[in-house]
Amino acid sequence: MALGARDRAFSVIILSFIVLSTSLFFGGTDDVAAAGGDYIRVGLRYGASAPASCTISSAEGFFLGVMADGGFTEGMPLPAYTRLTVSMSGRYVTLSSDGVLISDDMAAGNCLMPYDYADGGLIQYEGVPYRGGLSFFANHNGTFNVINYVPMEEYLYGVLNAEMGRKNPPEALKAQAVAARSYTAYRLGEHAGDGFDLCADTHCQVYKGHIGEYPETNLAVDGTRGLMLYHQGEVVAGYYFKNSGGHTQNSEDVWSGREGYLRGVADEHSPEYAWNWQIPFQTLRAELAASGLDPGEISSVAVTRRSAGGSVMELRIVGSESETALEKERVRTVLGAERVKSLSFSLAGPGGGAAGAPALYAEGLSPSGGTETQGLSGTAHVVSAGPGGEQAVSALGLGDMWLIAASGAQKAVPAQKAETPEAAVSGGMLNFVGRGYGHGVGLPQDSAIAMAEQGYSFEQILGKYYTDVRIE
Ligand SMILES: [Zn+2]
Repeated sequence: MALGARDRAFSVIILSFIVLSTSLFFGGTDDVAAAGGDYIRVGLRYGASAPASCTISSAEGFFLGVMADGGFTEGMPLPAYTRLTVSMSGRYVTLSSDGVLISDDMAAGNCLMPYDYADGGLIQYEGVPYRGGLSFFANHNGTFNVINYVPMEEYLYGVLNAEMGRKNPPEALKAQAVAARSYTAYRLGEHAGDGFDLCADTHCQVYKGHIGEYPETNLAVDGTRGLMLYHQGEVVAGYYFKNSGGHTQNSEDVWSGREGYLRGVADEHSPEYAWNWQIPFQTLRAELAASGLDPGEISSVAVTRRSAGGSVMELRIVGSESETALEKERVRTVLGAERVKSLSFSLAGPGGGAAGAPALYAEGLSPSGGTETQGLSGTAHVVSAGPGGEQAVSALGLGDMWLIAASGAQKAVPAQKAETPEAAVSGGMLNFVGRGYGHGVGLPQDSAIAMAEQGYSFEQILGKYYTDVRIE
């Protein structure tokens, strides 16, 4: 509801009181407080989910103040109010209590903190308690973004369990904490146009607020307090993902930019993660068309380029009207990252058999060092000898990408395609057969857990998956 002229005049009186109070408060250095270090801005609601009004509550009341230079400066104390209403009035975000206006312009920088914020007080939005405070950023369409100002370490408390379950070993949780802290620092300002740094979901990093905190995960944050990954003196983008399927990827093989610390490495610690997904050519065409890429009636699909780490760099779809090439991670964004779980896949025909039969060899090991063996559907090389010195290939992995060598315990080893091009699938049905889950760049969480279970430290885990980095 827009303010009438009388209401507006009333609000001006209230406002002048605030201006007076704030100047009083800003005058004394004793009342300038910064709790818990530098604050970052987390977007809780923005875009389509941004509200036009909401209720904020806090058990001990509030402080209205200003967030600047990373610290909170107390302005107007509001200990008598435990519930406040934030709503749009014209293009202004207003703050009121039971219809009484407290501020008619919660412009950027104004921040609502719990009155007892210095003692760990919490502020509630939509029934969820948050550490730090809240601010509101007016949109052009009559809604406002809800932003949580929270110190970095306390932000990570609300991230860790959501990104790696608290039941995992402490060293894995610590590795995750350092990666997430570096990723956060690198990504600050990602949503600057919307008035905050990172959003609270998978686009940036999942953050649940105080309700998502657990003793085990808080301990991992505290145990690595302030520690980040640096490469050549710069903080790194600590990318992480679920499962490598046996090999991580170079950043430029998945996205576009090459980073010296995001190098693909053979990952002997990765637990098995097999997936497959089928889609008829007709459906595939419809889905491509929905992305503006209709190739006409599809006649064949092939993997036409693959990275040294085994990931698909180009998927070529030949149709009656045109040829479409999906490159790198775009394969997953166009076809669905929950369906094409990783770029480490091969294509099989309608019968489920391998479409192509490329020769395989293990990356980093000389093929000539092993015995050539006819595998199930291609030429394979033994890459490791068993404890008794025996050498045998027990099976070719799904889709010919993976060589499983008998060596006491069976072990999946990443294998690389030889020069032979992979055959196109033309049977009207496409069967993706793959390994791993996620973009494949940086720290594989499943491997971090496996390494921690084997007794590795978080420094060793991070050193394995980020190349040439220092932890400090
Ligand atoms: Zn985001």
